[in-house]
Amino acid sequence: MTITTPIEKIPGIGPVFQKRLKKLGIKTIQDLFFHFPHRYEDFSNLIPISKIKINETCTIQGKILEIETSRTWKRKMFLTQAIVTDKTGAIKAVWFNQPYLTRILKKEDNVFLSGKTVLGNEGVYLTNPAYEKGELVPGLIHTGRLVPVYSETEGLSSRWLRYILKSLLLRFKNQLPETLPIKIIAEEEFLPINQAIWQIHFPDSRDLARRSRERFSFEELFCIELFVLRERLKLAREKAISIPVKLETIRSFVNSLPFKLTDDQKKSAWQALKDMEKPMPMNRLLQGDVGSGKTVVAAIVALNTAKAGFQTAFMAPTEILAKQHFETVHNVLKDFNLNIGLLTGKEDKFYSKKLKNDTIEISRNKLLKLIDGEINPYTKKLESKINILIGTHALIQDKVKFGKLALVVVDEQHRFGVEQRARLCQGYGQEKFLPHLLSMTATPIPRTLALTIYGDLDLSLINQLPKGRKKIITKVVSPEERNKTYDFIRKEVKKSRQVFVICPRIETGNKKQEAGNKKDILGWTEVKAVKEEYEKLSKEIFPDLKVEMLHGKMKSKEKEKIMADFHRKKTDILVSTSVIEVGIDVPNATIMMIEGAERFGLAQLYQFRGRVGRSRYQSYCFLLTTSPDQLNRRRLKAIVKSENGFKLAEKDLEIRGPGDLFGTRQWGIPDLAMDSLNNLKLVEKTREAAKKILMEDPHLKNYPWLKQKLSQFRQRIHLE
Ligand code: ADP
Ligand code: MG
Repeated sequence: MTITTPIEKIPGIGPVFQKRLKKLGIKTIQDLFFHFPHRYEDFSNLIPISKIKINETCTIQGKILEIETSRTWKRKMFLTQAIVTDKTGAIKAVWFNQPYLTRILKKEDNVFLSGKTVLGNEGVYLTNPAYEKGELVPGLIHTGRLVPVYSETEGLSSRWLRYILKSLLLRFKNQLPETLPIKIIAEEEFLPINQAIWQIHFPDSRDLARRSRERFSFEELFCIELFVLRERLKLAREKAISIPVKLETIRSFVNSLPFKLTDDQKKSAWQALKDMEKPMPMNRLLQGDVGSGKTVVAAIVALNTAKAGFQTAFMAPTEILAKQHFETVHNVLKDFNLNIGLLTGKEDKFYSKKLKNDTIEISRNKLLKLIDGEINPYTKKLESKINILIGTHALIQDKVKFGKLALVVVDEQHRFGVEQRARLCQGYGQEKFLPHLLSMTATPIPRTLALTIYGDLDLSLINQLPKGRKKIITKVVSPEERNKTYDFIRKEVKKSRQVFVICPRIETGNKKQEAGNKKDILGWTEVKAVKEEYEKLSKEIFPDLKVEMLHGKMKSKEKEKIMADFHRKKTDILVSTSVIEVGIDVPNATIMMIEGAERFGLAQLYQFRGRVGRSRYQSYCFLLTTSPDQLNRRRLKAIVKSENGFKLAEKDLEIRGPGDLFGTRQWGIPDLAMDSLNNLKLVEKTREAAKKILMEDPHLKNYPWLKQKLSQFRQRIHLE
């Protein structure tokens, strides 16, 4: 047995437990060792029975005089009672609903009992104490010490984990290879791994628990930093097509725009253009608040790429957004003689636009051929091909083969893996080259996350909004103020403004049933909520206004029509699910009404709000609440106050922890590292340490165990 032995091979862990462990991501002995307790129960107060006080957590050591289980007739509960004595006295212990205890604890047994004392009718007794048989203090794991408490999944108790961990830790005593460089251990005065791994599970003192935790926090963050920095180095060794900057073209494009670019837009575009001049792949994240104008930056870079004779793939998270980007990009680039295509998943018809306002629909097959440049539907000649292809995930399907792809733009998806990038170029003699990547997001990324999880991306920031935008008035609305809000909405609509209403999933009816309902994941309850709200608004509240609804379960033709109608002001109020969340750009919409606002995360609320405030008109965001929950209130307050996405994200990180934020939970990052993401100092320190190591030893030849740990990381982490 080694520490990488799979848990199946451990005697005493049967198939049922294997399954439960795997649910926690625990596959090997090492994984088990690194499944740390999230807190400790302090049972170290070992006292003689005569010294027991009321309402005190303590441990006693004694012999069981008698023990029996009975059933209380009133509440039909099992009650196990025991009398335990030591040299100084005797005390009663009481357990509820653990009838099996009488099979484990027998008369005459020597036991340790740890728990709280309470005063009952017949004096002081221990209630539901933890128990452990034996006579010697050393070696205790459930009582008489700082006892580890693990986050438990069903059927995997802390008691069981302690038992397994103790035997395995003893089995591998002093055999874990040191992962951290000795130099770092010395500098930081960390506990060596073997001591730390024991102390984090079974600490001799609070101080040692803290110190071992510190060590592992460092270690896990350090590994993430190493991982990310190595990805960066690896990418730097890849080749990409160098795209020269065509200043003339860019200048005339910028002059053709109906507005002036902000300085940050210019700077971001310039940074991307400069990156793409280099023969190695750009890996740039463009972070800009909602409405800051990222699309036009992407258009500049795509235009420059097209003029150099290469193609751009522009990927959006949803069909509606793909369509919108297609319209926008076509609109701003219409004087630049480009072929721009739209490819989404569900339909057979696709558009390709060329020159001015000329739009044509062509079949999927034709479009696919055009991507590769086989025919031109206008001239029927072979010379022309799609310059910019905009679409959903359909873009990375096998049939899409780019002839000369040099740039991938990804909207609102934080990462786009090297493999995915490589796949886009497959089969066309381009394997040697990776496309450049421009990833765009409105999610404000706190600095700690930017440094770690996004550490392999270069960052461009658009930190200012276009001139003339007004601050969005944001208000938390209580149920009593609902009608007032409706009146206000009616007034604004009469002024020819438009309104979004967002509905969360609302559990109507049986909560439990719906929680277990798989369909819920697909958004059915959300759809139901939207339908109900739509009925109410269109029939009862605003029968005189034009109300429409939009949800993810509609056919894309239908969705498109509804969006198009909204764009064209044919609709006053659009009731929608969170599909509206990212990217939708309807400047005339000035009211965002969010139902059940407390159910959404801060980042998401912020995104919703960003759908309005996109014109010179005053915009409003109403947060309607149903729950008085404290934490949620705090979140809502934060959004009312905050104008700045960054501050807000940091707040959210503080309130919720990074796991819920940005869906990072699925990334497989160890809990300890997750917790440490709040700690900027530690993040910076581990980053520096990682840089130093990689400078000295880029392939980690001198750190085989660290290297091994990283390769495990690679399998576990998928930051996409
Ligand atoms: P986001 O960064 O949220 O994706 P968009 O690219 O959708 O923002 O731009 C939001 C709106 O702002 C669009 O209608 C766009 O035409 C407009 N816009 C972009 N840049 C500017 C600017 N510099 N001045 C005025 N309006 C701009
Ligand atoms: Mg956008």
